[in-house]
Amino acid sequence: MVVFECVGCGAALTVPLSQVDRPDHEGFDWANSTDFTPPLLADGTYAAQGDFLVAPGDVRGLSWFGDNYEGNCCGVDGSAGPNLACACGRPVAVRVDDCSRWQVVHFAPGAVRPVGSPDPVRPWEDFAWDGASSIDGDLWWHRRVSIAAGVAAARVLVAANGARVTVPDGPLATVFRRTFDEWQPSTGRSRSLALAGPGVAEEADLLLVPRHPQTGEAWPGGAVAVSAELWRLLARDVRPVLPRTGGQWSEVLRDAPLPPRPRDIAPDHSAIRRTLSRRRA
Ligand SMILES: [Zn+2]
Repeated sequence: MVVFECVGCGAALTVPLSQVDRPDHEGFDWANSTDFTPPLLADGTYAAQGDFLVAPGDVRGLSWFGDNYEGNCCGVDGSAGPNLACACGRPVAVRVDDCSRWQVVHFAPGAVRPVGSPDPVRPWEDFAWDGASSIDGDLWWHRRVSIAAGVAAARVLVAANGARVTVPDGPLATVFRRTFDEWQPSTGRSRSLALAGPGVAEEADLLLVPRHPQTGEAWPGGAVAVSAELWRLLARDVRPVLPRTGGQWSEVLRDAPLPPRPRDIAPDHSAIRRTLSRRRA
C-alpha cells in the first residue's frame, strides 16, 4: 500500500491505499435524490493516470482552501479549482461532493507523491470472474454499469469506423444491440464484435476485453477494454444478487412477485454522447 504525501512538506495526506482501475463513471452526474451519490472509489483505494483520485474519507491533514466553494445544491462541485490545502498552505486537491456527484478528492498532478510499497500486481486469474457478487448495501451497481456500458458502446462505434457492428445473441446483444441499431448505419459493411478475456477466446473483427481490476491494463488483443465489472456481466451473464433485506431497488420493488435480479443494463445515453464528442475532439 502507499500513502500520498505533500511534495512541499512531506506530510502524509491519506491513509494507506491500494490501486484500482479508474472507474468509467468518474465525472458523470446523477440526479438529485434524497440520498447523496456515494464515493467514486471504495475506502482504502485510489486510481491514477497522472493525477490521483481517492475517497473523501481517506484523506488526512487537509483543510478548506480559499473561497473555491462552487456548487449547485448540497456540496461543492470542484469547478472553482483547488479547494483543499495541506497544513503547509499548498493547495493540493479538489474535493467534489455535491449531491449529484460521485464524491471524490482529486489530487492535482505534481501536488502529491506516493510513498511506501505498492501492492504486487495480481495475476488475472486471481480475480473472481465467475461468481455472482452481493450488492447488499450497494444500490449503485446498475448506474455504474450502465455508464460503463455507454462508454464501451461509444468506443466500439469509434473502433468500427463507420461499419455496422454485429453481435452474437446473448448478453452482448441484450446490452448493446439496440444501441448499435440506433447509433449506426443499418446497411453497408459490417464488423463483428465478440468477447475475449479470462477463460474466453471468441473470434471476431473487434474484441471486447476487460481491464485489469488493479492497474486498468487492457487484456491483450482487444479493440475496446471495459471495466471488469461490466465484462463479467457480458461474459458470464452474472448480475449481483439482490439483497433479501436492507437496501431497496425502488424500480423493482413495485413489481410482484419480486424479480430475482436487477433489470437489464442499457448503455447510458449521456455516456455515449460525451465519449463520442471527446473522441471527435
Ligand atoms: Zn504540505
